[in-house]
Amino acid sequence: IEERVQHYTESVFQKIISRDPYEKEFHQAVRDLIISIKPVLVKNPTYVDLNILGRIVEPERLITFRVPWVDDHGKVHVNRGFRVQFNSALGPYKGGLRFHPSVNASIIKFLGFEQIFKNALTGQPIGGGKGGSDFDPKGKSDAEIMRFCQSFMNELVNYIGPDVDVPAGDIGVGAKEIGYLFGQYKMLRGKYEAGVLTGKGLHYGGSIGRKEATGYGTIYFVNEMLKEMNDSIKDKTVIVSGSGNVSIYAMEKATQLGAHVIACSDSNGYIYDENGINLDTVKRIKEVEKGRISDYTKFHPEAEYTDGCAGIWSLPCDIALPCATQNELDEKSANQLVKNGVSIVAEGANMPSTPDAIDVFLYNNIQFGPAKAVNAGGVAVSALEMGQNSSRIAWSFEQVDAKLHEIMENIYQSCVQAAKEYNRPGNLIVGANIAGFLMVADTMVDLGV
Ligand code: GLU
Repeated sequence: IEERVQHYTESVFQKIISRDPYEKEFHQAVRDLIISIKPVLVKNPTYVDLNILGRIVEPERLITFRVPWVDDHGKVHVNRGFRVQFNSALGPYKGGLRFHPSVNASIIKFLGFEQIFKNALTGQPIGGGKGGSDFDPKGKSDAEIMRFCQSFMNELVNYIGPDVDVPAGDIGVGAKEIGYLFGQYKMLRGKYEAGVLTGKGLHYGGSIGRKEATGYGTIYFVNEMLKEMNDSIKDKTVIVSGSGNVSIYAMEKATQLGAHVIACSDSNGYIYDENGINLDTVKRIKEVEKGRISDYTKFHPEAEYTDGCAGIWSLPCDIALPCATQNELDEKSANQLVKNGVSIVAEGANMPSTPDAIDVFLYNNIQFGPAKAVNAGGVAVSALEMGQNSSRIAWSFEQVDAKLHEIMENIYQSCVQAAKEYNRPGNLIVGANIAGFLMVADTMVDLGV
């Protein structure tokens, strides 16, 4: 049976490579899952008989579309829009939209693939999807962003709905963009379907606590990891890459719990502030002024700014939280962190560690929290937002936060249990992959081919 599983998983993997040879991020995400779940297939050959893996790696639907828009000078631009509806076994497709020049089919597919298992881990009734565009919001006016969002929705409207597919934000898409997208959806549909998008503003169906959820959830998960070691985050030195929504609220919760957050970054470089990162300043620069993190030193001259974002991993710390983007933390950076005594690495971003970096962490017995488990708090609260929209009731911050906390604890326990059951105690990567896979696979078995 082991040989059969080996042969089966190899043939599934070869097939995705030969079908889409250039989608390296997607291949990376699939390989990571396959390595973990081989023992599950050995134990339960029904999954092989029913070709569950072969079905899971093929999106149910991949939509690409033209997004034409007019800039403030009257020039006409064309971007490419994507939506991957990857798996709907557990519920309507759910996952964010990313607006970034790097977006292509590979990026959208890896994100959508990860989303399937992340969403399953939350225990909420949501399938996996993702979308976005190679549009670069950087340097665009508000009016340009609005026109782009409207054009994007003109096409996306045909594929989404509160019980069909529910997008949200990701890199480059925050509450402002969700507002424009929702306005256009409402216009085109002629209906107030609040549950079609999440991450909305609080006056039109948004959930309190959604903005903070991914970052806070990351820290709740790290807390569980520390509890296991009879430790806590208090007085720990933390570095957090990125300075977007995930990073800011991870820093906020870590600081609230008594950690010492000394560095954060953006795609140009990083700041080091030994007094602890001042979050009001970061929020002002990033959320209000839409500036660069280098501006931080204008307000805090004692802080140091260094060009090049990967340098952040050379700073000594107890806890490292990559919260920027995929493959931002490579083998060299992982070795620097290990050398400087890091004890926990947890992924706030999606797939931020390269496979070689992960090997370095595991080899050195660093506690490692994988993205699908660690950053699931964002989509979990999105699911709570959908629930509030259906019932037309808005929860309080305390209710949302308590539920988020409970969900993150449950995710941690699911990972620990699955890892234990398959003889890889403490390996949260294996645990997250197996626990997420089992929920999706069992449902696919129940629902038939
Ligand atoms: N983009 C986020 C993620 O990577 C959130 C998705 C959502 O809320 O639907 O999970």
